[in-house]
Amino acid sequence: MGAALADMNIHSIQDLFEYFPYRYEDFRLRDLAEVKHEERVTVEGVIHGEPSLMYHGRKKSRLTVRLLVDRYLIKVVFFNQPYLKQKMTVNETITVTGKWDQHRQTITANQMSVGENQKKQEFEPVYAIKGKVTVKGLRKHIHNAFAQFGSQITEILPEELLQRYRLMNRRDALKLMHFPQGAEDVKQARRRFVYEEFLLFQLKMQALRKFEREQSPGIAQSYQTTAVQEFIKGLPFPLTNAQQRVVNEVLSDMNSSYRMNRLLQGDVGSGKTVVAAITLYASITAGYQGALMVPTEILAEQHAESLTALLSPFGIECRLLTSSVKGKKRREILGELADGNIDVLIGTHALIQDDVSFKNLGLVITDEQHRFGVEQRRVLREKGESPDVLFMTATPIPRTLAITVFGEMDVSVIDEMPAGRKTIETYWAKHDMLDRVLGFMEKELAQGRQAYVICPLIEESDKLDVQNAIDVHHTLSVYFGSRYKVGLMHGRLNSAEKDAIMQEFTENKSQVLVSTTVVEVGVNVPNATFMLIYDAERFGLSQLHQLRGRVGRGEFQSYCILLADPKNEVGKERMRIMTETNDGFELSEKDLELRGPGDFFGKKQSGMPEFRVADMVHDYRALETARNDAAVMVQSTAFWQSEKYRSLRQTLEASGVLAGEKLD
Ligand code: ADP
Ligand code: MG
Repeated sequence: MGAALADMNIHSIQDLFEYFPYRYEDFRLRDLAEVKHEERVTVEGVIHGEPSLMYHGRKKSRLTVRLLVDRYLIKVVFFNQPYLKQKMTVNETITVTGKWDQHRQTITANQMSVGENQKKQEFEPVYAIKGKVTVKGLRKHIHNAFAQFGSQITEILPEELLQRYRLMNRRDALKLMHFPQGAEDVKQARRRFVYEEFLLFQLKMQALRKFEREQSPGIAQSYQTTAVQEFIKGLPFPLTNAQQRVVNEVLSDMNSSYRMNRLLQGDVGSGKTVVAAITLYASITAGYQGALMVPTEILAEQHAESLTALLSPFGIECRLLTSSVKGKKRREILGELADGNIDVLIGTHALIQDDVSFKNLGLVITDEQHRFGVEQRRVLREKGESPDVLFMTATPIPRTLAITVFGEMDVSVIDEMPAGRKTIETYWAKHDMLDRVLGFMEKELAQGRQAYVICPLIEESDKLDVQNAIDVHHTLSVYFGSRYKVGLMHGRLNSAEKDAIMQEFTENKSQVLVSTTVVEVGVNVPNATFMLIYDAERFGLSQLHQLRGRVGRGEFQSYCILLADPKNEVGKERMRIMTETNDGFELSEKDLELRGPGDFFGKKQSGMPEFRVADMVHDYRALETARNDAAVMVQSTAFWQSEKYRSLRQTLEASGVLAGEKLD
């Protein structure tokens, strides 16, 4: 048994106490009128008419019976339990448990007993089990553990927190998680553990943040305030309030002696580039060099162009370094960089290769930070003495996720768009409306505008992606004939080819650009006003929003058409949400709700912490509260010294966070 439990990660009595049910089965009878659609329910009723059994193939079957429950006549369906038919007798009472479909007035049941409900009082925890362990056995173990060791369970939260939030003490809460009388018990017990779990997690993050600040002193960059103000005045537009606030936050980090580790979030088009330019300029006036790192060559080129335009009038030297800069040119740049003749270096990951060394690197900015691996970010942070680091992202990250995944970073948000932006009109069309959509597109082209056509992402195969884009390119080339030129861009082209195609589109030598998702980030062609996204249901909301951000960048009204035949409700809901809002943060919150935290960043780099009881989406208020409490605690001497926080400190220590920190 010990080994079987160990397989479930239960190694101690404490683990056993904290092995919580993942749901509760409520066997108490309820009035069907009060049961919500898709809720689980137990009912007792009289069999009304012969049950019918149908087979689909050898193993699959469907057993249907009509049941009179109080005054309702409902249907009960059992899948793949044909043997139950023999136990059913017309006009006899049975008790069934299952999921209630309100529209069909049907219960899809998985449990049945003959006769009246035997468990009228029962509210039973359901545990995830493995191997030889049974739910019954596990419950017995837990029961015994409480009998023997229950009195040894101690509180870890200070009394004042329990009182402030009216939380149950740890022993009672543990007991109710396993042996509740009803839903209210579970709710109260859960409330306590949600807070405890978030608080411990946030204490960890806040402690890490504190240690990182104390242990990796940075450079206090004494930038020239007046020069920076002049620079801001010289911009072609006034900063938005949000930009100004974020600039202040970043500058004050740079000015202080700890090392900046800041995440800057701003929706597409919110004006992050200017913020980058201002902070780079400030760093230069303090006598340092700056670097901007982006994920693709196209983006690097565009950034180099816009930064040069903003900075060179002030005598700042900007250079582009990508992997296509080779040989003599590359050596020249490296030399100038080491001499300090170059002030700002812009590029892809080529920036963090070993042979690239700066004379005096003070500030590093990365754009689209979550596309860079953690390792690349670390290498970047280790370049130069201890440069301040600013991570920029255009993918709005819901606040709950940001303070969880990036809990150890400071976060700035540009939550305001420059004035006068036109909202992009978004429509959802089914595939059979393609002709009309193309007609609409042609109208835009006839007015001198340009269009993007995005082809679906098929994650498993880059090859299929490319083939898809090639097919669509062919179709559209035939459709537009010699009237408009259609370009084709995909991930299989080399960077020179991509550049040539992008260049053509930028200069309006091609009017339509068919592309896989490589145009997703940053690309800026203000004359493009129309975007058509094929198979839009394959994309997440955040990604659709990113794609859509390629249009609406100029003075003209822009349109985005989502071509999609989503098969399920969630897919349809996503299309509807896209047509209803242009707000990236709102979309990201919805995305989180629809896809869950695990999927938010995609499979490859989730780095999501797992909570046992707490749910970031539903319990976000508790998360905010715990975060604020943790931030205050970590900064107080009491937390590190006082007796009342001892258990919390010990819990943190056990999780390895306080390694190297001396406890009293
Ligand atoms: P993103 O945050 O997507 O990187 P950009 O920095 O590319 O956004 O800015 C988008 C556009 O908005 C650019 O053309 C930029 O010049 C313009 N812009 C930025 N800030 C302002 C502002 N405060 N007022 C008006 N236009 C602005
Ligand atoms: Mg600093």
